Amino acid sequence: MKELNREQSERYYQEALDVIVGGVNSPSRSYKAVGGGTPTFFAKAKGPYMWDVDGNRYIDYLAAYGPLILGHGHPKLVEAISQAAMEGTLYGTSTPWEVQFATMIREAIPSMEKIRFVNSGTEAVMTTIRVARAFTGRTKIIKFEGCYHGHSDLVLVAAGSGPATLGIPDSAGIPQSIANEVITVPFNNIEAYEDALKKWGHEIAAVLVEPIVGNFGIVKPKPGFLEKVNELTHQYGALVIYDEVITAFRFHYGGAQNLLDVIPDMTALGKIIGGGLPIGAYGGRKEIMEQVAPLGPAYQAGTMAGNPASIRAGIATLEVLSERHWYAQMDHLGAQLEEGILHSAKKYGHNIVINRLGGGFTVYFTNHTVENYQDAKTTDTEKFARFFKGLLDEGILIAPSKYEAWFLTIAHTQKDIDDTLQAVDRVMSKL
Ligand code: PMP
Repeated sequence: MKELNREQSERYYQEALDVIVGGVNSPSRSYKAVGGGTPTFFAKAKGPYMWDVDGNRYIDYLAAYGPLILGHGHPKLVEAISQAAMEGTLYGTSTPWEVQFATMIREAIPSMEKIRFVNSGTEAVMTTIRVARAFTGRTKIIKFEGCYHGHSDLVLVAAGSGPATLGIPDSAGIPQSIANEVITVPFNNIEAYEDALKKWGHEIAAVLVEPIVGNFGIVKPKPGFLEKVNELTHQYGALVIYDEVITAFRFHYGGAQNLLDVIPDMTALGKIIGGGLPIGAYGGRKEIMEQVAPLGPAYQAGTMAGNPASIRAGIATLEVLSERHWYAQMDHLGAQLEEGILHSAKKYGHNIVINRLGGGFTVYFTNHTVENYQDAKTTDTEKFARFFKGLLDEGILIAPSKYEAWFLTIAHTQKDIDDTLQAVDRVMSKL
């Protein structure tokens, strides 16, 4: 297999190791989960492509871990961000755009009756928990094993992709007293969930759910699972929080909750709604959200919250996405990738399973179905690592972890898919 010239990436990485901890600004960017190596440094992107510092071009299926659903540098996004740059990126005051944007989000995800903008998915989820605790007067939460909800203390217990990959499901620096407030159960296992409620139900403030999992690959809920979670949780007087940081506006124009027709009490958003700029948002039932300051006793604030650059980028993104045929296009191209990758794997005798929904999917090297974290964990890590590196050398960029998804964007074309499948075939032939 041809090897790309990576001299400049090597050089930057050596310099980075000296000044940035681990050489990366987020652990998932290191190649530790694929057996090590020099992370590729990128310096330019346009449409579905990215160019590294050595000038190699890649078809981008990382999409920055989800946000870049328009591809890179969509003209409407560039225009929105340029306008913000000219008219002010941060005022520290209220603005008309945040009202417009909150209204757009509520129209798409009506359960978010009242909304607050923050700066990341981590912040959004962290705050839903605080508000749920304020509303219920209880302290414990339940989360599903392997699901990632950001890096705040409470949710970094048996978390998903990044930490799971690095083998540190419980981060150092989190007091045991905090970990004691979190109960983890396997996803898609309603009996385990019911058992947890039987034991701790009256102490539970909320359950945190990725309604379609994105953090041990794409894993759909079994039929009836989410409905039952809702029913049982409410029976015990606790709240249901959907972490839709990955899922909102990914599979259709709205949340996974609207697609699946199962409605939570609160929702956390991030990624796509910022169009590639930092953002998060949380919201929910009016009486719950009224716990938040200045109306209520639960405090949450932010200097950068609702900044015009992120908000105007978000409006532009949703405006483009609301031309709904994009989702059909991503599904169509996603189906071709799924079929083509399965075909190549079969041809060369590799056992793989693909979990796909629309333009998001995960390729697992395994011969069993993947319905929960244990299933994802027991897939072939080394084969995935070789697959990742083979694709990289072919100019196909995916995340360096077997727990992540490939994401299509509206910028990917039929030719990109055809080129990708030819590259996949060559990689599979030598795996
Ligand atoms: N929730 C989910 C489901 C996520 O996938 C992520 C990030 N991958 C987060 C929360 C945290 O978001 P952020 O990285 O913006 O803090």
